[in-house]
Amino acid sequence: MTLTYDEAVALDQADPLASFRTEFLRGDDPVAYLDGNSLGRPPLRTVRRVEDVLRRQWGERLIRSWEDGWLELPEQVGDRLASACLGAAAGQTVIAESTSVNLYKAIHAACGLRDGRDELVATDTDFPTDRYLVESVASARGMTVRWLSPDVVEGVTSEQLDVVLSERTAAVLLSHVDYRSGVLLDMAAITDQVHAVGALVIWDLCHSAGVIPLALDAVGVDLAVGCTYKYLNAGPGAPAFVYVAERHLREVRQPITGWWSSTDRFAMGPSYEADPSIRAMLSGTAYVPGIVAVDASVSLVAEAGIDAIREKAVALTEHCVALVDAWLVPHGFAVASPRDPARRGGHVTVQGPRAREVAAAMYEAKVIPDFRNPDMIRLGLSPLTTSYAELWTAMDITRRIAEGDPVAVAL
Ligand SMILES: *Cc1c(COP(=O)(O)O)cnc(C)c1O
Repeated sequence: MTLTYDEAVALDQADPLASFRTEFLRGDDPVAYLDGNSLGRPPLRTVRRVEDVLRRQWGERLIRSWEDGWLELPEQVGDRLASACLGAAAGQTVIAESTSVNLYKAIHAACGLRDGRDELVATDTDFPTDRYLVESVASARGMTVRWLSPDVVEGVTSEQLDVVLSERTAAVLLSHVDYRSGVLLDMAAITDQVHAVGALVIWDLCHSAGVIPLALDAVGVDLAVGCTYKYLNAGPGAPAFVYVAERHLREVRQPITGWWSSTDRFAMGPSYEADPSIRAMLSGTAYVPGIVAVDASVSLVAEAGIDAIREKAVALTEHCVALVDAWLVPHGFAVASPRDPARRGGHVTVQGPRAREVAAAMYEAKVIPDFRNPDMIRLGLSPLTTSYAELWTAMDITRRIAEGDPVAVAL
């Protein structure tokens, strides 16, 4: 089913999400952008909304804007994000800080909820920040990390988990979609397996949020974190989200006990008392322009519908895999992502000894993928912004580069 250029154009014409491409700021450069899974494109409405924050809300209203609504933004926008793409009811999600900081809080919080248990489970293939933070929390709490070493393309299996889970396990941290291969784990089955030993699960949703429909409440997830600058397009360093299931909220405690997480922020009381709501996961003053940027992009996801977004993600990755098979595999590359779309997130990874050189030439040709040491090229496909023609053009240029076509290389 190798796509032709004309077929790609026809798919764009029939694409129910095609009009969303005009909702984003874009110029003629690059020729193709296949890195929206690392940094999504800027929505036009974000520019307008953030400008309003700066000019009117901050510029004119000044300090009064906190009372006009800024104070509630972390949980208000958290609720909107939860409704648009997490499958979570209101009151369980806040927008704050980075994924890394939220991971630190969430891992500590999960351990606190399972006090007396002394083991954490994580994978040694996970994104570095996740691994480093598990180690840091384990060391601070005198716990042991049981590392899993899954195959990067297959992902963690229930057999592997079975070996490490026990009544000593406090919590398991896993990425729902692997940042390298894009393998998508079975969240429901794994959550059940972890719960069967009485442990809690923390899902990292960095590569799922905004591209895969989630059902955190229905699945019974305990805690989750994720970033908003990848498929959620909220901008570089935009604040992340953290979810805590309602059943844990009364007890949940996290270590960065700033005033924004206390019961009555403005009582300025003598001692700390954690807020009984999801606000307990906050710490300090919210970064308003960042949260407003999250709100703007979440509104786009809500309008497009997460199911339609997933449908296009599957179609884009299916065509991408077929083009890689036809055009790059003959030149020494292999698909390093699951072939079953039900087990794959929103990107496709190709692997080969010439990956570094080919990725550099793609950059020169203004086709922007993502290179991962030592030999992987990630092709990120963002359903709201990537067109089928853009995918085709990117793959055609990459094919010519891989073939050593001097014109492509000199583009
Ligand atoms: C992108 C990503 C992060 C990023 O964390 P930051 O604190 O935003 O730098 C963390 N974990 C995973 C799995 C990611 O993909």
